[in-house]
Order: sequence, then structure tokens, then C-alpha cells
Amino acid sequence: MKKIQMVDLQGQYQEIKDRVTNSMNEVLESAAFVNGPEVKKFQEELEDYLGVKHVIPCANGTDALQIAMMGLDLKPGDEVITADFTFAATVEVIALLNLTPVLVDVEEDTFNIDIEALKKAITPKTKAIVPVHLFGQCANMDAIMEIAKEHDLYVIEDNAQGIGAVYTSADGTKKKSGSIGHVAATSFFPSKNLGCYGDGGAIFTNDDDLAHTIRGIVNHGMYERYHHDVVGVNSRLDSLQAVVLRAKLPLLDEYNKKRRNAAIKYNAAFKDQPAVVTPKMANACETICENCDCHVFHQYTLRITNGKRDALAKHLAEKGIPFGIYYPIPLHKQKAYLDSRYKEEEFGVTNKLVEEVLSLPMHTELDDEQIAYITQTINDFLN
Ligand SMILES: *Cc1c(COP(=O)(O)O)cnc(C)c1O
Repeated sequence: MKKIQMVDLQGQYQEIKDRVTNSMNEVLESAAFVNGPEVKKFQEELEDYLGVKHVIPCANGTDALQIAMMGLDLKPGDEVITADFTFAATVEVIALLNLTPVLVDVEEDTFNIDIEALKKAITPKTKAIVPVHLFGQCANMDAIMEIAKEHDLYVIEDNAQGIGAVYTSADGTKKKSGSIGHVAATSFFPSKNLGCYGDGGAIFTNDDDLAHTIRGIVNHGMYERYHHDVVGVNSRLDSLQAVVLRAKLPLLDEYNKKRRNAAIKYNAAFKDQPAVVTPKMANACETICENCDCHVFHQYTLRITNGKRDALAKHLAEKGIPFGIYYPIPLHKQKAYLDSRYKEEEFGVTNKLVEEVLSLPMHTELDDEQIAYITQTINDFLN
């Protein structure tokens, strides 16, 4: 059996090696390292893929979130609501901009922001919501967009884990994740579903004015050379990373399908295991199938409900099976984000999830033998 990895980037590289190395050589010969033609072409290809009017590439996903927020008309002290159960980058940028993060509980079965908790958290100071499409499945965007409309709030999608997922609204309309809110941010960190070979990120929007504002912000607030109209940042995607992303984008749907197929096999192996809750499909999807693209499984995350998660994790480590605990501490308990307004009883779900979640190896190169070994090891331990 091939050694099991949490993410296998070497195997994936072998299939695109020629294209990547040839195009990288061309970039090296041309010396167009920054804002070269490769970046522009990638931008256009991603706009087509997502069905959005504007993609603005930048240096990483955290920058993308920060810049998206800088582009909106938000002022210090404005409240921005997001999920308590996410990667810290989501809340970090809110705090960095002197906005007030307001963390709310998530749904136990989808891990995404809880709509009732979100509604309860809205105050006259609330200006924006940041739904995170955690582990590769969209948050309940129908409800979120309706709440945003009613209260006149911006919606900034954190699509770092959801690229390629499709959201089907109750009326049957289908949209790619990241094309639903006012603006979205994604990450091209190597382990993401569409990852480059270093850092990268992008902002998406259908709003022409916002796109213009953001294009200046990523470039020191310049709209005309050496005229700095707003305070900006320096955040760009380099041409070598764009080469990798251009090679991978045409394969993204296939990559996501491979992830989904692995998830289907995992699910089947755990269907009679009472101590395991497999990922729940949400929104318009009831069950997971090969061709349904509502979940792109950035992570395949189980809940171990018999109190043995940590013992199981230790056992997996002994058996050479990598795993992840995403996330081990709720954000509302992190020193940097403590807030005296939070009440523990409002975070019942996240407080429980941090004790139960266990993410299994998930990537495009998992084979049946590896999946059988992983699932057998888990079932043997829990039975
Ligand atoms: C990865 C990630 C980010 C940050 O992306 P970087 O490119 O690492 O800065 C933000 N939000 C979520 C949910 C992520 O998973």
C-alpha cells in the first residue's frame, strides 16, 4: 500500500508536471514575474469558471478577506458576524480592521453558521456577515442573503474551502460558491482544493464599482500611477503561481469529483457504525452522489460521538494514518478574541464539535486500498 498522506500533492503534480514546468520556464525566460500575462489569463479563466464579472488575484486568502472588507464602506466599531467554528483568518482580519467580530454558533450537522444564532446576533451596529463554506459545503445562502437584504448588510463569503461547490437555491437557481454574496474571498494555499505551489488568493465580485475600488487597494491604493487615493496594501499573485493555477483550473471539477468519490466510499464504510456521524449534505442536496457538486470535501470530517475521539486519534497515529482535528478550540475561547459579551451557553454546538470532530485523509490520489485500510482500522477500534 502507498503511504497514506493527509494531502498528496506529489501524486497530483506528476500529472501536470510537463505543462507546469514548461510554462514556468517561459515565465523565467520572459522575466514577467509580477502582474504578467499568466496572471491576467488566470484571472479571466477563473471569472469564466465561476460565472462572476470580476476576479482580483492577490497574495493569499487572508489578504483576500481583508481586502474584500477594506473595499466595503465599513467603519471602526461596525459589527461583523461570523461563525465560531472556522479557521482564525476569518475573524483575524475583522479585528485587524478595527471592526468588531461577533462570533455565533454553528449547525451541528453541517458545521456551518447557524441561522437562528445569526439572527439573534444582529444589532443596529451590524454591517456585514461572513459565512464560511466550511469543509467544502455552502452555508445556507438563501437564508443569509434574505437576512442581509432585510437588515441592509454586506455578505462576504469566505470561500477558501469551497471553490467549485455549487449552491442550489430553493427556487432551483444554481450558482458557484463565492458568486452569491456581495464579495467573496478564496485561498490558493497548496492544500486547498485549487492550490498553487506557494501562497495565493483572490477576491470575486459582480459589483463593478467594488471591483474597481479593490483593484486599487491591492496596489497601494493607486488608481493612477503614483496617485494614492485610499490607503491600500501590496498584495499580488505572482506569475509562477498563476502558471500552476492555470494548469489546475481545468481539472478542478475532476479533482473535486475524486474527493467526492472518496467521501462516498468513506460514508458507505461507516454506515452501520453507531459511534460515527458522517458529513451531512445540506441545502438542496439530500444524499451525496458522484455527480452532485454541492460539496467539494475540502475536508472529510466525522463526528465521533462516543467520547473516544482522542483515543481513536491516538490509535490512528499508531497505525500510520494521518488525521486532522479541525478545529480543536472554538474561536470565542481564543485569547485574542475573548469578548465579555459572549455567553458559554450560546456556543453549545461548537463547544461540543471541538471534542468530536476528526478529519480523515482527503485528496485526489486516495485509492481503494488506502480507504479500506483507514475505514477498517476505525471500525475495528470502535466496534
Ligand atoms: C485557508 C483559509 C483561509 C486563509 O487562507 P490563506 O491563503 O492561508 O491566507 C481563510 N479562511 C478559511 C476558512 C481557510 O480555510
